[in-house]
Amino acid sequence: MKPVTISADLHCHSTASDGTLPPAKVVTRAAANSVDMLALTDHDTTAGLDEAYLSAQENNIRLIAGIELSVTWQGKLLHIVGLDIDPEYRPLRQGIRMLKEMREERAQEMGKRLARAGYSNAYENARRLAGNGNVTRTHFARHLIEVGAAKDFTDVFKRFLVRGKPGYYRVDWAPMEDAINWITDSGGVAVVAHPMRYKLTASWLNRVIAGFREAGGKGIEVVCGHNSADDNARSAMFARKHGLLASQGSDFHEPGKWVELGKLATLPDGIEPVWQQWL
Ligand code: AMP
Ligand code: MN
Ligand code: MN
Ligand code: MN
Repeated sequence: MKPVTISADLHCHSTASDGTLPPAKVVTRAAANSVDMLALTDHDTTAGLDEAYLSAQENNIRLIAGIELSVTWQGKLLHIVGLDIDPEYRPLRQGIRMLKEMREERAQEMGKRLARAGYSNAYENARRLAGNGNVTRTHFARHLIEVGAAKDFTDVFKRFLVRGKPGYYRVDWAPMEDAINWITDSGGVAVVAHPMRYKLTASWLNRVIAGFREAGGKGIEVVCGHNSADDNARSAMFARKHGLLASQGSDFHEPGKWVELGKLATLPDGIEPVWQQWL
């Protein structure tokens, strides 16, 4: 049987977390870009899914219920994407509630630290920019750029929002094993997000992926937004080596900035696409 080729984008953000478009607009934009299958994967929240689902029905595009969970494993920050999850699954809901509280507490701590560095009311402004959604470092970044503290995202993260900088506050997010269980036991597939973005050595990355696999993780993002051709090839190698399904996604956040919805390189050969099961 000839494999069906579709345009899948299984990683993106809306105003439910740090994207700038409301969920319905993310879906219409994806449809306009000829995406056939879209997963909305907001940071630690499923709040955008109902709106996205309605818009997907109107636009004749397949919506996969998703989330991007913040996790910590052996002191390292990782992002685990959950695909085809059941957003109503109780343990997942409880995990989301816990992460929301952690995000609020962290944001307040970041605000205190930034105030000491001379930037008052950063928490209030980040909170305002986040609206009803989860507050993230991206909202602090937008505020700090707004007040002229930095010129762009790269600049503001480097100078304020990473370890050793005034606005950084370390958090232990959800344990990786728990996050994988919330996803898997709800009926979904756990995927390691953007493996090339953690600035880990090859041996650490191998360890992380092996630990992920051992804990029941099933997939890895091979083609993603910021990857170079070499990153795609290396990620494909990890997928083959660890026997993981391949995912792909733009990690779209904002028109003009970041990568556009559906604009992705072709998946390398010799790996099985995670979305095959949803065709
Ligand atoms: P948080 O989950 O609150 O720590 O925020 C993480 C988000 O910040 C990521 O999902 C990105 O959207 C954004 N981010 C992290 N580093 C950078 C960077 N160097 N430039 C632009 N955005 C970044
Ligand atoms: Mn983000
Ligand atoms: Mn991420
Ligand atoms: Mn993301």
